[in-house]
Amino acid sequence: MYLFHGVVDQHDTPVRNYTRKHINTQTFSRVLDSLTQAGTPVSMDQIVEHHTNRESLPAKAFAITLDDGFENNYSVAAGVLQAFGIPATFYVTTDFVDRNMMSWIDRVEHCFDRTQSACIRLPWSDKPHYFSSSQEKIAILDLIRANAKTNPSIDVDELAADVCRQCGQPEVKDSDDPLDRKMSWAQVRDLAGDDLFTIGGHSHTHRTLAFLDQDELSEEIHRSLYLLKYQAGVDVRHYSYPEGLRHSYSEAVIEMLKQCAIECCPTAEPGVNSTDDDLFRLRRIPITG
Ligand SMILES: [Zn+2]
Repeated sequence: MYLFHGVVDQHDTPVRNYTRKHINTQTFSRVLDSLTQAGTPVSMDQIVEHHTNRESLPAKAFAITLDDGFENNYSVAAGVLQAFGIPATFYVTTDFVDRNMMSWIDRVEHCFDRTQSACIRLPWSDKPHYFSSSQEKIAILDLIRANAKTNPSIDVDELAADVCRQCGQPEVKDSDDPLDRKMSWAQVRDLAGDDLFTIGGHSHTHRTLAFLDQDELSEEIHRSLYLLKYQAGVDVRHYSYPEGLRHSYSEAVIEMLKQCAIECCPTAEPGVNSTDDDLFRLRRIPITG
């Protein structure tokens, strides 16, 4: 099972997309080509079906998944997948749809890209962090990512706003850049209408589900499912956890998803799976490049 986020024709900014979560279109084609030569593409529905019936999948079966709902999934990736005849699941964060809303870390990256140099303080350390080169910016972004993704007491929206303030930049929350633009509901509906494609949930605001109390968790999951149903006509069976690390989801999260008729929810923990693995703890191999 492979995890992608975005596919873009070009990305030439030194800081934005330094993690290469948006890959180049040629790289995407090359990866799909070599996977198809070596194995058999399957849909997430086929994975659930084979798991339920205790049947094995074809040798080297692979599934393609894309998280977050970037517009380039629709305008770039879908066409490449269709050309190869490869099924894919798009896990969409519903609050981002139609609004080009950026995740908190994309807002911080965007701010660092525009800031020439700054000295900022981060909430978990007394030490000031100075940056001016791209390398220094990336080192601090790595630090911010690592802390915010593992520390439930950090309010990531507050953190993004505070970092922008310290850098003397207005906080940009929505952007039309191919690295930021999100799908519209019409585009989500269009993908949902293609037999090759599946639409899954990926929370409403992309908060880490395991960090939420029961009411917040319920709001994130129920709102996302309601919007996917009423804006895109999808009876959602598939979901993926925002961030997807071991501590990003919990038994309580899995329980609520199951109560909402979700049948399968892959993580972002790296690795391969077999058909008898838990459908709520499946591993994915992230592809960057
Ligand atoms: Zn995500």
